[in-house]
Parts: sequence; C-alpha cells; structure tokens
Amino acid sequence: MRVNPNYEKLPGSYLFAEIARRVKEFSAENPQAQLIRLGIGDVTRPLAAPVVAAMQAAAAEMLAADTFRGYGPDYGYDFLVNAIREQDYAPRGVNLAFDEVFVSDGAKTDTAALQELFAEDARIAVTDPVYPVYVDSNAIAGRLGDFVDGRWNRLTYLPCNAENGFVPQPPTGKVDVIYLCYPNNPTGTTLTKEQLMPFVEYARNNGAVILYDAAYKAFITSDVPHSIYELEGAREVAIECNSFSKTAGFTGIRCGYTIIPHELKGVGGHGRQVELNALWKRRMGTKFNGVSYPVQRAAAAVFSPEGWRQCSDTIAYYLRNAALIRDGLKAAGYEVFGGIDAPYVWLKTPQDSWAFFDRLLSTAHVVGTPGAGFGPSGEGYFRLTAFNTYEKTQEALERIRRL
Ligand SMILES: *Cc1c(COP(=O)(O)O)cnc(C)c1O
Repeated sequence: MRVNPNYEKLPGSYLFAEIARRVKEFSAENPQAQLIRLGIGDVTRPLAAPVVAAMQAAAAEMLAADTFRGYGPDYGYDFLVNAIREQDYAPRGVNLAFDEVFVSDGAKTDTAALQELFAEDARIAVTDPVYPVYVDSNAIAGRLGDFVDGRWNRLTYLPCNAENGFVPQPPTGKVDVIYLCYPNNPTGTTLTKEQLMPFVEYARNNGAVILYDAAYKAFITSDVPHSIYELEGAREVAIECNSFSKTAGFTGIRCGYTIIPHELKGVGGHGRQVELNALWKRRMGTKFNGVSYPVQRAAAAVFSPEGWRQCSDTIAYYLRNAALIRDGLKAAGYEVFGGIDAPYVWLKTPQDSWAFFDRLLSTAHVVGTPGAGFGPSGEGYFRLTAFNTYEKTQEALERIRRL
C-alpha cells in the first residue's frame, strides 16, 4: 500500500514544536524565570452558566426513554439552526433558508473539509500570513504542488503587511477558491465592506468561490461586516464558516456552523450549474452523523439573553487584554496592528521573528509566536494573544516596556 504522497510534502507542525523546544530549553537553564505565555491560541475563561445548565439538562434527558435521543439530523437540530438564522443572521439583514445552515463540530473541521467540493486541479489563493488549516488541507488533497523554499509552488499568496495596511488585493491571475478570515488570525486586522467588496467582485467575474472564516466575528467592535453576506452579491460566491469556540469558549465542547447559500453554484459535467449546497448535503450525509444533542443545546443557550450577556463579558475581558497589549507595545515604541476587533495583536519586529522570539523569552520571559510560522509574509512580525489573565498580561507588558 502506497500512502498519500502529499503528507510527505508537508513541512510539519514545525512552529509550535519549535516554540515548545526553545521554551523547554530556556526553562531548564533558568528554573527561576517566571514565564508568561502570550502565545496561547486557546480560550481560557470558563463557559457561561446558562450554557452549562443547558448541557446538563440535555444530558439528563438521555436518562428517560421518552426524552432519549439517538442520531440527530445530519445538518443540526431545528432549535439550533433556527437560533442561528433568527438571532445571529437575521439581525444583520441576512435571511437564510433552513437548509442553508450546516451545524458541525467546529470551523477547523469545516474549513479543512470544504475543499472536497472543488476539482482536483482547482487553483487556491490564501491571504499571507494565514491560518495553516486552509493551506495544509489543500496540500494533502494534492492541489498545491510542492513546498519549495517556504512556499507551495501552486498556491497563490496574497500578501498582507504594513505596506498595504493589511488590506490584501484580489489575485491578478485566475484562481478558483479564495480563503479569507476576518477578523484575522494571526494579524487581528479586519476589512471594511469597501475593502472586502473587490473580492466579491473578483469571485463574481471569475466564477471563483470565497471561503470566509468568521470565527472571530463576536470580537468585532468597529464598523466592519460581521458576515460576508452583508455585501451585495456575496450569496452567489461565498461560503461562511462560524464557530462557538471563540464566541462562547467552546474549544473543548466543539460546535460550529457553515452557511452555503443556494445561489452559490459551480460548474459540473457538460458545463452544468451545480449547487455547492447540494454537494455539501451529500457530503455531510455520507461522512457525518451530526453534533451531539447536549452540545447543540449548549450552543443554542449561547443565544439566550443571559447566555449572550455572559459570553459578551468574556469577550470584553479578552479585548481589554488586547488593548493592554496594544497600548503597552506602542508605549514601548513598537508598531502594532490588530487587537481592536480580535484577540490577537500583530507587531513589527526590529529583527527577524525568531530572533525576536529568543530576545523576548530570554530578557522579558514572555512567550509569543514568530510571524514566520504563518507564511512568507509573516517574517518580520510577531503575534501576541489576549487569552492570558489581565494580571499576567499587565505584568508581561511591564517587562516588555523595561526591555
Ligand atoms: C480558532 C479558530 C477557528 C475555530 O476552530 P474550531 O474548530 O471551531 O475550534 C477557526 N478559524 C480560525 C482562523 C481560528 O483561529
């Protein structure tokens, strides 16, 4: 049996392994150093009380034969799908049909799997730096060619940097799929409607599809779109992935949802128009048996008034940390981006991003993430995250200021 040769082409999860190795080595040599981790890519605050209560009540229903539930619907229970339609989308003027919503176990699963809908030779574009899932899932499917000198030779990179104000331009050549993530991980930056519109136009003019990852939309405080469907014409060209992970602390509970409008079509045999919604239904029916009932009840409770209030408080806590990081870095003379509508702050480093990692670790005892790990355009930048406690974040910034 020959294995899928594309796995051997992957550069490996070098980034976090290398960070762990350097931190371990430093700690061994400096056992007295109190490290502060501002590289955490996971939420840390507990769940909202109504969310846990809903999960417990749903678990208790499993005890009685008349309320027991087995397999649920492939695409999500009515109560959750309707909560998403009525409380998440309708208030922004986006009306979704019931069967345009697909509940899943998370946005990583969906953003990684959606490439199955595209032809083997589809051309892919990503913003750079990038959340690695979009790239690796296409690399495994064999679409990206080979990884040479830090780049996939069949992938289109759309650079985002200080020079262009982190506003990417649509591809100049022809691509079939564009992955966008706003608010962005890792840069923490957003796009306005006007900055996003050229992508919708590109997709409409080129028969391309946009895969829009809105995992951080709950962190938005500025006047930027929460959904790509707030843009005219986006329903015909965009899929949108959402998650309860960052919105409501579900990274360990697992629940997300993807939107595929009926208007979105690709080209099938004999030039026939094919709804991607129908393909995804077929795919989910074959490969997925739904998200567990207690988890879907917990997710629906996020949209209850008290659930939403508590989740918003948690997001405000993280955003206060992000503001602390932004202000602290600015006071220390750094050029900073993001951190207003996202739990990530992206800063320009005075030296290469790994050298900066080492200096921050050895002199401030603060751990962050070198930008180079997120793609070629990440070099010269560094990511700090807002997921530590307020107190620890405050102390980390004091140390950085004293550098
Ligand atoms: C955290 C994150 C997600 C969420 O993934 P889940 O699988 O829902 O936990 C999605 N996209 C990006 C860019 C993220 O950073």
